[in-house]
Amino acid sequence: MKVTVDDQRCRGHGVCTTLCAEVFSLTDDGYAEAISTDVPTEFEDATREAIQCCPEQAISDVTKET
Ligand code: SF4
Repeated sequence: MKVTVDDQRCRGHGVCTTLCAEVFSLTDDGYAEAISTDVPTEFEDATREAIQCCPEQAISDVTKET
């Protein structure tokens, strides 16, 4: 599973970092980034939850696009 964060959409709510700090982190600018675009298997469920819970729909599952 691979994910990206659209920095044009992200508003830095931090929902994703709360749900899965192993995959997402907030930058010094206050926006989220994917620490690892390649999500380890054990964090896939939490990552899917973050995708669904992001208020800005800024996180994309790009597994099939790469
Ligand atoms: S939940 Fe969405 S809007 Fe909030 S920090 Fe994460 S990617 Fe950005």
